Amino acid sequence: MSNLKWAAGPCLLLGAALLLAAGSVQAAPPTAGEAQFRSIYKEMVETDTSGATGNCTVLVEKVAARMKAAGFPAENLRVIVPPNDPKAGNLVAAYPGKDPAARAVLMLGHIDVVNARREDWTRDPFVLIEENGEFYGRGTSDMKAQDAAWVDTLLRMQQEKIRPKRTVKMALTCGEEGGGFTNGAGWLVEHNRDLIDAGIALTEGGGGELDEAGRRLAVTVMGAEKDSASFIFELTGPGGHSSKPRPDNLISRMSTLLTRVDQIDYPVEFNAHNRAYFMGIAPRIGGDRGAAIQTLLANPNDAAAAATVKQLPAWSAMLGTTCIPTLIEGGHAGNAQPQRVKATINCRLLQPGDYESLKAQVLRAAAEPEAKMEMTVFGGVGRPGAPPLTEAMMGPIRKAAAEVFPGVPVLPMQETFGTDASRLIAVGIPTYGVSGMFRGFDSGNIHGLNEHISVRSVMDGRAFLYSVVRAYADQ
Ligand SMILES: [Zn+2]
Repeated sequence: MSNLKWAAGPCLLLGAALLLAAGSVQAAPPTAGEAQFRSIYKEMVETDTSGATGNCTVLVEKVAARMKAAGFPAENLRVIVPPNDPKAGNLVAAYPGKDPAARAVLMLGHIDVVNARREDWTRDPFVLIEENGEFYGRGTSDMKAQDAAWVDTLLRMQQEKIRPKRTVKMALTCGEEGGGFTNGAGWLVEHNRDLIDAGIALTEGGGGELDEAGRRLAVTVMGAEKDSASFIFELTGPGGHSSKPRPDNLISRMSTLLTRVDQIDYPVEFNAHNRAYFMGIAPRIGGDRGAAIQTLLANPNDAAAAATVKQLPAWSAMLGTTCIPTLIEGGHAGNAQPQRVKATINCRLLQPGDYESLKAQVLRAAAEPEAKMEMTVFGGVGRPGAPPLTEAMMGPIRKAAAEVFPGVPVLPMQETFGTDASRLIAVGIPTYGVSGMFRGFDSGNIHGLNEHISVRSVMDGRAFLYSVVRAYADQ
């Protein structure tokens, strides 16, 4: 039942008063060009680009057609489809700058989304639904709002006849979510490097954080990603009839192994990124949590402080390495003892490349010498280290934040996952996660059911990104 039917009810009036009191969630008046932006965003969300049922090429063709219709020169647009993957299309655009010697600014965004099963969702995942100040739909938050802001930025520069110093490029790519599409960022790095070459690139990661009351805590900039490694354990045995059990049932052994690995207590580790984040967030969040963060910064071994800070999964993940079981398969019949059991443990490392010591730790905890174990790391080589956080790259972000989000600090952060940024960083393009799109601690449930982001976050993020890109383009 829709709340709209209760429009005259006292509850809604009270709700509206509370929203106004919270100060950060009331609707903003529409800004110039908002209709154009909304139309791009809607088309993006409503074009299915999931690995299971979608097609990136269909979407990039639509975006390219829209940009041409808006007067963007066709010669500055390229749809690039990997020859063996017709649904994995990418779009590259360039808005030429005045100074051919100045390196470009690249706006990077993946347009593919994680699969969404209609029957599991409350609303249709491939319809952009606006309800009570939130946008719902697959990709609304990860990351079609930002993709739409990139397209909108180029069209606005075109419409406003801006002549920037640097060329502004855009790459909308497929295959970041691992749904079976060829990874577009990797493809472009390998085959069309000149088209995406840049002195700085911006993409997803970071954003903005809201506390439980919807108050803006900080604009965050992803300076570092976590590295990832998986450990695949396999146990095999002779099996047999389930009526005459052997003492060493493989499923039971694997479950014991997983429990032991799950109980590893990883130490709290600080690097430049998570330290800067926690130092900045502690006074903003205040109370017991703020105090616990301060204690932990002074002494990373303080167990009580760590327990308090780690209550929030996003913070727990930012404080060090994590490992969880993610896949399990085993057995072959309901009336047979298992002959084979296989389980995957996925780890996210704070320090890139620290695989061997983690492997030793996991093997020690597993305490199952008969198990075969295979380690795989991201891209076969792991993620590159983080690019430096310089004043030249932080300055424009701080300036735009002061305009759009006055009084809210800008904090570097340690992202808890990896993005396509690492593919560009690996070839020397410093890439940072910046969006100015605020989310609560649930991150809008990206990759999960009923993905959402507030209308206000999207609209303010659009204004913020335009300012940031314009500032970099004239640097
Ligand atoms: Zn994403």
